Amino acid sequence: MENLINLIFPQECFSCGKIGRILCVECLRKLSLSKIADKQICIVCGTYSKEGMTHEKCLKSKDNKAPRQLIYLFEYKDMVRKSVKESKYARKQFLALKYLTRWGIQECGFDFGYYTGFALVPVPISKKKMRRRGFNQARIIAREAAPLLGLKLNATCVTREKDTRAQYTKSRTERFKSLEGAFSVEGNYVRGRKILLVDDICTTGATLLEISKVLYEVGAQEVRCLCLSKAV
Ligand SMILES: [Zn+2]
Ligand SMILES: [Zn+2]
Repeated sequence: MENLINLIFPQECFSCGKIGRILCVECLRKLSLSKIADKQICIVCGTYSKEGMTHEKCLKSKDNKAPRQLIYLFEYKDMVRKSVKESKYARKQFLALKYLTRWGIQECGFDFGYYTGFALVPVPISKKKMRRRGFNQARIIAREAAPLLGLKLNATCVTREKDTRAQYTKSRTERFKSLEGAFSVEGNYVRGRKILLVDDICTTGATLLEISKVLYEVGAQEVRCLCLSKAV
């Protein structure tokens, strides 16, 4: 599929313009992943936390319904920002997301053993958005990550009932409020299961926190998160 697309639409690398693929290997190599481990944060308070584990006190402040961990692979800037942004509007651009996902997982040096036994669940978009866009970025990333992590994908157990818009204009509290009831989950599947939520970008963490809450409420055993990028 990838080769076919590359053949039909000869691509220029986003970053350097070289003809070949949309994100060339030379440019991927330039993405330094060596320091990413030092930048991981707690999803609740946003301050540093080793391996992105949620602080005990932060978990308590969310009634133990926050994800236990958030790992992100890249900072949302430069080439990564461009890839994630543009892939929202141009279908073939999803190749860039796949390359980034593969590169990030292989090069970041994290111990993904944490995720053994987890089901990979992409953060959903609404049906309306799906119809308009034709694909869900989070799902593309999850599908690429699944074999690399040796995990099973389930893209149907969480669904998005409503879109929330213009989040940046809202305060933190309003943002959380607007997400209430936005997601529904398949209790039968989720109950007793360990879920690894996957998304393309984590900005405030509000979406992941809300889904995590809903998952715990129907009896998920554990929720963790893996994001391709984190807003900086
Ligand atoms: Zn390049
Ligand atoms: Zn914290």
